[in-house]
Amino acid sequence: MNVWERDPNRVKCFFMDPSGDVHIETYRCTSYASKIKCEMSTYGGGHWAHLPFGIGKELDDKGHQVSAGYLTREKADSTYGLDKFPTECQCGYKFTDADEFGHRRIPIYQRRDDPSVRYTLQEAPDGAMYYATWYEKHRDWCGLDGHALMVKAPGGHDWHVDGRCSNCTRPEDKVHKCWCRHGDPETGDVTVNKVGDTCSAGAGSLLLKNWHGFLTSGWLHT
Ligand SMILES: [Zn+2]
Ligand SMILES: [Zn+2]
Repeated sequence: MNVWERDPNRVKCFFMDPSGDVHIETYRCTSYASKIKCEMSTYGGGHWAHLPFGIGKELDDKGHQVSAGYLTREKADSTYGLDKFPTECQCGYKFTDADEFGHRRIPIYQRRDDPSVRYTLQEAPDGAMYYATWYEKHRDWCGLDGHALMVKAPGGHDWHVDGRCSNCTRPEDKVHKCWCRHGDPETGDVTVNKVGDTCSAGAGSLLLKNWHGFLTSGWLHT
């Protein structure tokens, strides 16, 4: 159960680290170029199906990130075995050799305060904080510590605390922070406010369609 459902007024934040493991899923799909449409696709796309394969490592033996996505038929067979791929779309369409093979590798995070509790970013409950390491090459997307902090906020929104707020009054200025964060995220104890080099937007709160609140001393609250 989600923490947010237990107490609608406040949620305790906690930090998550990448565990180094990934959930692997195999998939088949009709190629985008074929322009085939599946009547059961919710986004107007082609036939698509996936199967959970198991847990794997994020890095290969040489320490390189294993890339996800398209696989040749040969690579699909040598890596997973062709029998580990779905054979048909939920609409009943049967995939042929001409259709694509691929795999998804979804990072699993673990709680700093209890590494036995693990989530994907999608599964993580409200209050989960993590570093968006893929933003770290953009200085103006990071806090003063060089990290790009994300917080799972109520309502299913990933709040990029070190990013730009939508009503920023100094959009040309890359140095200021719309939200000033204080404290060490890795302890879970973070405060976000307007104390620092900041713009005039808001009061340091996060304004979502269905939630408006603050992050103070490690608590998301309204
Ligand atoms: Zn289909
Ligand atoms: Zn701003």
